[in-house]
Amino acid sequence: MKYFLLFVTLFSSICGWSQRKKETSQTPEPVVKSATSPIEAKIAGLKKYPGFLEFYYDEKQDKVLILIDKLNTELLYIESLTAGVGSNDLGLDRNKLGRERVVKFERRGPKVLMLEPNYSFRAISNDAAERRAVEEAFAQSVLWGFTILAEEGGKILVDATDFLLQDAHDVIGTLRGAQQGNYTLDKSRSAFYLPRTKNFPQNTEFEVTLTLTGQPTGAFIRSVTPTPSSVTIREHHSFVQLPDNNYKPRKADPRAGYFGISYYDYATPISEPIVKRFIARHRLEKKDPRAAVSEAVEPIIYYMDPGAPEPIRSALMDGARWWNQAFEAAGYKDAFQVKVLPEDADPMDVRYNVINWVHRSTRGWSYGGSVTDPRTGEIIKGHVTLGSLRVRQDFLIAEGLLAPYEEGKPVSKEMEEMALARLRQLAAHEVGHTIGIAHAYSSSTENMASVMDYPHPIATLKRRQD
Ligand SMILES: [Zn+2]
Repeated sequence: MKYFLLFVTLFSSICGWSQRKKETSQTPEPVVKSATSPIEAKIAGLKKYPGFLEFYYDEKQDKVLILIDKLNTELLYIESLTAGVGSNDLGLDRNKLGRERVVKFERRGPKVLMLEPNYSFRAISNDAAERRAVEEAFAQSVLWGFTILAEEGGKILVDATDFLLQDAHDVIGTLRGAQQGNYTLDKSRSAFYLPRTKNFPQNTEFEVTLTLTGQPTGAFIRSVTPTPSSVTIREHHSFVQLPDNNYKPRKADPRAGYFGISYYDYATPISEPIVKRFIARHRLEKKDPRAAVSEAVEPIIYYMDPGAPEPIRSALMDGARWWNQAFEAAGYKDAFQVKVLPEDADPMDVRYNVINWVHRSTRGWSYGGSVTDPRTGEIIKGHVTLGSLRVRQDFLIAEGLLAPYEEGKPVSKEMEEMALARLRQLAAHEVGHTIGIAHAYSSSTENMASVMDYPHPIATLKRRQD
């Protein structure tokens, strides 16, 4: 009996302790309440990442909270695919750039909307009503609505987990479109990827591992995925401060063959073309504007993917460096440089122009793209994708031409030299695209060599003889 009583007393005292403990956490004491701000209460114990968009990582729940202090301020948002699928036919390559978008955060009641204004239709005018008439005439895109967790002093804390853990690159749509299967995102097999989630003064970078699950129906996805009903990739989000207004957009002239931006300007006088076109180019300024040849205030530096082995790496860097000759001819010294990407730098970090060496299961295209300011055409990041199997195909062509094994002698070094020479041209060509230059389809027919040539069959017209 004595023992029983002791047991009851002990049990009730444990219950009492646990009840008090619950009460304390649910209703903070007044002193604690006044000392803790609403935002501090939400971020207590989380890992802080100070930078452009300050954010907090909740390790226990795998959540990211962003502290928005830039309401109604335009910034650049870019999504990309960082760990790909590996099938050339699907085009879901490693380090594949998605779209860049100008966005701004707008407060509406209990929400923060992430709004993409429409830069395709503008009115370049000092008249606010004229500008508003165009703004209201065309659709805008709200990309997300964030629920507000806490706010104080003009800063708003939102939960960005669902926004960041989505298939922003639409890999699901690509797989469906290529008839590879109907996949959905499995959040229980998706998570933040912290090695590439970083914050810097002018750019904030998030990366996530995503798993798409579904019934594979196509041969392409089955040929490259270990368990094709579960396709795991990584996607990246960048929020970037837009450049200052000191860049001067350059009007496009179709004879120059540049990529660029275009938009309708409804404030244009009736007699002038309504569509405005500007070329895409990197910002480059001379240290000494009066000198015939000057160093650049900030040189254009391209970084080589350290995943490319030798002797390929050196060949690619040599080819990319040819562009410095063009900048020298334009009056610049050492304005175009090529280095190896530093170990602690990430290829999708917008501050680095990168030459990526990308593997796929079959040979395919190489391409050059860029992150461009949609407002002005200024190139912010050059981004080259080189398919790694091409060099092997060129070697096979050399083998076919030389038939080098017939006499039982060691094979000639010429075959590899030819393949590497072709790689130098490839690197120069694709880098050319990322500094804004389009194909020069007619250069060889006009007897002008160009690394941007895309040789076309020569077709001539004969006068009829009848
Ligand atoms: Zn090309």
